[in-house]
Amino acid sequence: MALQPPGLHVGRSWSGHEIEDHCPCPKAPCGLVRQETTVEECDEHYFLNARAMRQSHTPAACL
Ligand SMILES: [Zn+2]
Ligand SMILES: [Zn+2]
Repeated sequence: MALQPPGLHVGRSWSGHEIEDHCPCPKAPCGLVRQETTVEECDEHYFLNARAMRQSHTPAACL
């Protein structure tokens, strides 16, 4: 069951990536994190935490 296409870049802020700047996840070129590479240590992005992502885009739409 895929709710979203793979490889999305996601962010917890409404704009910019200040939260992402201070988290341990690997970053995409735009400064957001790749949804599939979030790390367990990250309280903001790890998928099992199921926090709301306020912005996202596909790699094709990046930058
Ligand atoms: Zn993170
Ligand atoms: Zn991006």
